[in-house]
Amino acid sequence: MSKSIHDMGWDELVLGAAVHSFKEEIDYNPSQVLPENRDYAETNSKYKYVGDWRVFKPVWNTDLCIHCQFCWLYCPDTSILSREKKMIGFDYDHCKGCGICQEVCPTNPKSIIMFTEQTEEEEALNQWPEKKGSK
Ligand code: SF4
Ligand code: SF4
Repeated sequence: MSKSIHDMGWDELVLGAAVHSFKEEIDYNPSQVLPENRDYAETNSKYKYVGDWRVFKPVWNTDLCIHCQFCWLYCPDTSILSREKKMIGFDYDHCKGCGICQEVCPTNPKSIIMFTEQTEEEEALNQWPEKKGSK
C-alpha cells in the first residue's frame, strides 16, 4: 500500500508532487480570510516550528514604526504579522532571521533591528541607536 503524503519525509516526495497549503474542500478565497481562520492542510508549514534555525532575531520598536508595510511585503517567510495595514509583530515560529525586514525598513533609526536570539526585548530596546545625522 502506498504511503499517504502526510506520512512522507521531504526526501520521499516525487518530482511534481503537490503539497497543498489548504484543505482541498475549502469553498472560500483564502486571501480574504484572516490567517488564523483558514483551513490549512496538514502539509502546510503553519504546523512546523522552524524558529530554532535562527541565530539573530528581529526586534521591533513600536515608537518608530510608521506602518509602511515594507517589512510585511518583503519578508520571504510571511513572518511579519499585520492587521488592518498595521504591523503587529513577528511570527517567531517561522521567522528564519534573514534580516531582510531590517534592510527594507525606511525609518531613521530603523524600527526593526536584528539582535542575537538570546537578547531580551527590553535589553534590545535599551540599546536602540540614535537617529543618524542628528546633532
Ligand atoms: S528576519 Fe527575515 S524571516 Fe524574519 S521577519 Fe524579518 S524578513 Fe521575515
Ligand atoms: S518596514 Fe519598518 S516602518 Fe515599515 S512597517 Fe515595518 S517596522 Fe514599520
